[in-house]
Amino acid sequence: MEPTHIEHIGIAVINLEDAIKLFEKVFRLKCYNIEEVADQKVRTAFFMLGDTKIELLESTDPEGPIGKFIEKRGEGLHHIAFAVKNIEDHLRHAEELGIKLIDAKPRKGAEGLDIAFLHPKSTSGVLIEICEDKRK
Ligand code: ZN
Repeated sequence: MEPTHIEHIGIAVINLEDAIKLFEKVFRLKCYNIEEVADQKVRTAFFMLGDTKIELLESTDPEGPIGKFIEKRGEGLHHIAFAVKNIEDHLRHAEELGIKLIDAKPRKGAEGLDIAFLHPKSTSGVLIEICEDKRK
């Protein structure tokens, strides 16, 4: 089955508190969750926008994925996450098509989701995350 919607859009930021203030002020959105994902070396902040979330990502380690991204490209759009119903099926399907995977198996991401990243070299230069909320 195809993805159901865009679960979230990830934006890399240098300072999480400043970026939260900006999004709250400019768009009148309310940050409803701040969470550290130690595994990913990030602190994240979430805003709800219809069915889609905005995920702000601040690096907690210059050697982490967001730290390296910001050093190379500065702040900006980092990834798009598609909500799927069966993440294992989607990963297997992508692999069968020769898509390079960053995560061969799903792992735990922010907000209790099971997540996996596809390599941007295989997906038109866009880092795509697929994620599933197994609690639903
Ligand atoms: Zn994400």
